[in-house]
Amino acid sequence: MRLAKRIEKLPPYLFVEITKKIAQKRAQGIDVITFAIGDPDLPTPAHVIARLTAAARDPANHRYPESDGLPELRRAVAGWYQRRFGLAFDPDKEVLPLIGSKEGIGHMALCFIDPGDIALVPDPGYPVYSIGTMFAGGESHYLPLREENGFLPDLDAIPAEVARRAKLLWLNYPNNPTAAVADLDFFRRVVAFAKRYGIAVCHDGPYSEVAYDGYKPVSFLQAEGAREVGVEFHSCSKSFNMTGWRIGFVVGNEKMVNALMRVKSNLDSGIPQALQQAAIAALEGPQDCIPEHNAIYQRRRDKVQAALAKLGLKVYPSKASLYVWARVPEGCTSAEFCAQLIEETAVVVTPGSGYGPSGEGYIRLSLTTPDERVEEGLSRLAQWRRGEKLHIK
Ligand SMILES: *Cc1c(COP(=O)(O)O)cnc(C)c1O
Repeated sequence: MRLAKRIEKLPPYLFVEITKKIAQKRAQGIDVITFAIGDPDLPTPAHVIARLTAAARDPANHRYPESDGLPELRRAVAGWYQRRFGLAFDPDKEVLPLIGSKEGIGHMALCFIDPGDIALVPDPGYPVYSIGTMFAGGESHYLPLREENGFLPDLDAIPAEVARRAKLLWLNYPNNPTAAVADLDFFRRVVAFAKRYGIAVCHDGPYSEVAYDGYKPVSFLQAEGAREVGVEFHSCSKSFNMTGWRIGFVVGNEKMVNALMRVKSNLDSGIPQALQQAAIAALEGPQDCIPEHNAIYQRRRDKVQAALAKLGLKVYPSKASLYVWARVPEGCTSAEFCAQLIEETAVVVTPGSGYGPSGEGYIRLSLTTPDERVEEGLSRLAQWRRGEKLHIK
């Protein structure tokens, strides 16, 4: 048996070492606290579950769904965009439901990337952008997100010959893992860049609703001309605590949306209709869960930031997203610092280097750890800082 090169080329699982360490600790009966995964700990809102269970009982929802989703769901997405961003989209041409946005992100590469083509990919970044590119036979040209640029890519630093060959540009704000945000001025520059080089833009925006201190993230599609060059991916996952249900959507450029629909209609048979009903309930129903969840994350963010600052780490502002991004102390790598924390405190944080070479020197903490575990984790870090002996059960 000989596997395809694309399988052999897959990088080793990001967090192998850490996962191994966690398993070892747990096997020794040690209580491990993890800030590693960006997966909301709070349940899906009750009215969404009510719609899901009612829809599950309806035999009309037991059959194959359409690849392009229920027309009612596409209309619900368009309505949500109108209410949230003041933008109108044709639900039949500019909206496509996805089996979680990760699915659409991965498959979008197949719409644009032929062997040898280039995708511009943020570094650090969500791994699917570069893996999707590699699966399609293309190459990622990494755009370093640097602290001095507010963790935005420097478009002017992209060599012209690379920009001319590039077919796709991936962006993600509010950003995972850096928690940076982008404004419309940046997105306008992205549109100009994309038009200049004929590049399709994919903006990944699952954290648009997860924001703090009264800040409201903008949509890439609000930039003038954006829908001529690009699309935006969204998801019910982070906005409505629905990661487990797998439902997202893409909105924007008709040609791009249509290409993705054509790829998908040859690979999957749509999203279970009961889940589409649940997504409609989430998008059209009461939105108060969003500020409620954000208040909880904001409280955790404040505690985590204060605790890291006390450890002497430089912490970056998190106006949005589920993460806190901080610099590790001089003289150790991200991986070494994370390994030391697990070893000495049984607290797990993610090394920035797992998201790309420019993530080296940073760590990411997720705010999706339950409150009492946050307290316990941070009190361990405080004891560790004071050099006290930790008593971990
Ligand atoms: C969580 C996340 C997604 C994927 O969300 P789905 O659950 O697949 O909809 C996409 N992009 C980024 C940057 C994420 O953090």
